Amino acid sequence: MIEQNQTKSDKIVQTDTFDVAIIGAGINGAVAAAALSAAGQKVLLVDKGDFASFTSQESSNLVWGGIKYLQSYEFWLVFKLCLARNKLMKHYPNQIREIGFLASIGPTAPFGRLLGTFGTLFYWFIGLLGTKPPASYSASQAKALEPNLISGRKAVKYYDAELPDNDSRFVFDFIRLAMHNGADVRNYTELVDAQHSEAGWTLSLDGKDGKQEVKAKVIVNAAGPFAKDVSELIGSETKAGLVFSKGIHLILNRKLTDSYQVLAFWDEEGRLFYVLPMGDRSMIGTTDTRVDDPKTEVNDEDREFVLRQINAQLELEVPITLDQVVSERSGVRPLVVEGSDDGKAADWHQLSRKHVIETNPEKKTVTILGGKLTDCLNVGEEIIAEVKKLGHNPKDPGLWFGEGSQVRKAEFYGVVASLAPQDQAERIAEGIWRRHGEVGFDFLSDDLEEIIPGLGITENEIRHIVRHELVTSREDLLRRRLPVKMARSDKEISENKKLDQLLVELGLN
Ligand SMILES: Cc1cc2nc3c(=O)[nH]c(=O)nc-3n(C[C@H](O)[C@H](O)[C@H](O)COP(=O)(O)OP(=O)(O)OC[C@H]3O[C@@H](n4cnc5c(N)ncnc54)[C@H](O)[C@@H]3O)c2cc1C
Repeated sequence: MIEQNQTKSDKIVQTDTFDVAIIGAGINGAVAAAALSAAGQKVLLVDKGDFASFTSQESSNLVWGGIKYLQSYEFWLVFKLCLARNKLMKHYPNQIREIGFLASIGPTAPFGRLLGTFGTLFYWFIGLLGTKPPASYSASQAKALEPNLISGRKAVKYYDAELPDNDSRFVFDFIRLAMHNGADVRNYTELVDAQHSEAGWTLSLDGKDGKQEVKAKVIVNAAGPFAKDVSELIGSETKAGLVFSKGIHLILNRKLTDSYQVLAFWDEEGRLFYVLPMGDRSMIGTTDTRVDDPKTEVNDEDREFVLRQINAQLELEVPITLDQVVSERSGVRPLVVEGSDDGKAADWHQLSRKHVIETNPEKKTVTILGGKLTDCLNVGEEIIAEVKKLGHNPKDPGLWFGEGSQVRKAEFYGVVASLAPQDQAERIAEGIWRRHGEVGFDFLSDDLEEIIPGLGITENEIRHIVRHELVTSREDLLRRRLPVKMARSDKEISENKKLDQLLVELGLN
């Protein structure tokens, strides 16, 4: 419903009315929007930046049960995360890929091969055998499997999953679903004020097209690390608090393993540390440092720490140096602390990664605090349940997530093989099908070739994304809708004249 409204400055603005206004379009806001819109609610989703432009673009891209939380005896959390992982793997057969973690047991590992073998078996069982079974290797077997591992170190292997296109692309999938269900989704739109009355909420938004007021019956606060600020703004404080753990990753100009697997180690603080795939390159990290400000950057200390860990854990002919780093990621994990705990008393690294949802029936607000990307489907379902408790009546959303039909996949690969150069066809078919499914048929053309060599991305795909995915800048396109800015340096991107011309033509200067 659209009403005409009179503002203080006597300017006429349009006021839209929504069942639910969701603040924040990281993974939690995006799943909430997809789930609630599938449940028949009229949904508004806003983010002050681009979709997934904060924490949800800085993760390790893993969909996992959290084997490391077994060390802090969080069996229930691990069980729930494993189930969440299994469900995601089932419904996203292309966007989520099972991957082996080869963990090299060096002097910093908290246990030896025997306990490691037992731990990975236990992890497999607690995950209801949802992945390939774990394995255990002698030092010579481990070296044969991965020549860059340090000789003489035994290893174990367990399985989880990863997001080959990056976390932010995965978030966009839920945004797209929400749009498809009729939700009004707006990036670069900030909630700046909120007033509650018996009639519901009046929200002031500051967006690309200026200021606007909207009305909503319920607010879902999914502002991630800013959830407490939004709680304050809307006058609906939560009992639980948040503290921030900074984590950084460095992406290298080379691959540290020829096999499709994650290499895992324990850093000098005894924390798990990884070499992860990033397109056709390797990403290393992460760190876990307490910070007070959610806005972070990679600093020299972080870089030095990460390089020191990796060089201590691999036997490389050429050690890793800073000049091999093509891009960096830095974000904060919003960690929930309950009651009077400010996180300082607890062992920092042992703080739980669980999420908490708090509902205020008087103000009709639902706030999500903390959590993992892996838990997103549960968050969507829990939000529907909370909105129901507030006296609203979302219908059963049915199957509100997933990639949809795979029936034409083989046909799609066949068509791409007939149109693209032989050495690129598989990458192109995989990339387009993974990101767009059957819609990919709409933008195939005779001159199908990679515009960024090695990444399976074509000119037509870029045109399609710019036209349909609310892209306003090169950063939106290359960093979040596509995994280009992570796998390629700024220099490599700016030297790609064909790409540059295309982006200029599309108005992305
Ligand atoms: C280093 C690191 C590694 C991680 N690795 C993994 C992993 O491998 N697997 C995993 O499952 N999880 C991982 N996580 C956790 C996961 O990334 C986070 O739990 C998740 O991204 C948080 O999503 P969110 O939606 O809560 O927050 P965010 O993604 O931060 O979204 C909140 C949004 O709210 C917006 N916002 C704030 N205030 C306003 C306002 N007033 N108006 C409008 N919009 C507003 C912000 O712009 C932001 O986009 C990792 C986290 C980090 C930091």
